[in-house]
Amino acid sequence: MLFGRKNPFSSTDAFPLSDAVLEFDDSSSGGVRRARRTLDGFGVRAQLNARHQWAAAMSAVLLFGLALAAFVALEVVDSALWVWTAATAVLGVFAFWMLTRSDAGKKLRHRHLQLCVVGLFLGAMLVLVYVVPVTQILLAPFAFVALSYGVFAVPRRMLLTLCSLAFVAYGLVIWLHHYQRQDDALLRLELLHWIALALSLPVFVAWMGKVQRLYRSLDQASRKIKNIQEDAKRDTLVGCFNRRYVLAALEEQKQLADETGIPLCLAVLDIDHFKRINDELGHLGGDEVLRTFSRIAQQGVRGGDVFGRYGGEEFLLIFPATSLLPALNTCERIRAQVESHAWSGLLRARVTVSIGVTQYVMGESVLEFFSRADTAMYMAKEGGRNQVVVEEPVLRGDSLVSDSAADSA
Ligand code: GH3
Ligand code: MG
Ligand code: MG
Repeated sequence: MLFGRKNPFSSTDAFPLSDAVLEFDDSSSGGVRRARRTLDGFGVRAQLNARHQWAAAMSAVLLFGLALAAFVALEVVDSALWVWTAATAVLGVFAFWMLTRSDAGKKLRHRHLQLCVVGLFLGAMLVLVYVVPVTQILLAPFAFVALSYGVFAVPRRMLLTLCSLAFVAYGLVIWLHHYQRQDDALLRLELLHWIALALSLPVFVAWMGKVQRLYRSLDQASRKIKNIQEDAKRDTLVGCFNRRYVLAALEEQKQLADETGIPLCLAVLDIDHFKRINDELGHLGGDEVLRTFSRIAQQGVRGGDVFGRYGGEEFLLIFPATSLLPALNTCERIRAQVESHAWSGLLRARVTVSIGVTQYVMGESVLEFFSRADTAMYMAKEGGRNQVVVEEPVLRGDSLVSDSAADSA
């Protein structure tokens, strides 16, 4: 029985939760599969970005090692030197990894870390050129690789300064070669190489600046879109999930329960005598009670549960992968916490909540499922309020998922 509510599950209410990731975790004690909803956040994205950047730097070092291996295969470079270079690269990578994990490294900004990577890479190549002049064949292509790695995060001016320093260092290497070897042919070749690089690298960095600006504006736009998407899920007054999101989540969890057979529970929560609370505290005070209630409820639920405002002083709580008993326990905990909270002294009576909870029966409609929880909530009202009422689902053959398959958490 719906007590005159309109069907909340019209097709316009549902929207695809494309950015919500459903993740199954088999690690719980009973080996029970849990459906967990993890919402993509900026923190995760930043971590992924850092990992991608790290992987890109490692690939560049690896490719350089491969190119050097070709020199060894063609007997242009001694294999001992390759081993030394590889060992130095591994040590360098390890030292850098330690730096990024240290407190000092965490204080460094991302672009400074990238600048260090580019600088170290260019420096290491120049040392190698000094030791084995023929490896300068690798200098130009890998200098472009190193700079394109840094171009998305490191400001153009910093990269140009780094280029200038690299040219000075390369000039020094050329002078040292000439001073130590007195080889005119080598000097001519190295000077030509130097000039070619000096004419092309700064132009490359300057042009890549445009790509950098484009990348930044794309990044800003994607952040704004993420914010808008996040806002679209939230209730503007209370901050928890809004009606649209919670109903879509319910629809999605019902489908998941149908597909996988995992249990699913739903609770409808309604603050008692909220009209009176508004009368005593005023509407702004009433709003504050709604916010506090929402905070208490959210603190009492697990990460994978979905709590949202259905409307007014009514809320929904979805318990994915949870059977009736743990869901009932959570509801009872929330009820007790609301009752014992130190509410405003201006209120003549305590703030309490009536809760109806039920378990999903395989194959039933979302409307039937919701109605049962709603009926239970109204029974709690009729029973004197400030209580949790369970509406036992009617068994249809073996369509109800058994408690033994349920989450015993
Ligand atoms: P019951 O115990 O039977 O639930 O009684 P109640 O007074 O809580 O329920 P009723 O549905 O009669 O009244 C709900 C009140 O909630 C009426 C409405 O003015 C108030 N309300 C709805 N939305 C908001 C809101 O966003 N802010 C505030 N302050 N009050 C709201
Ligand atoms: Mg109500
Ligand atoms: Mg009410």
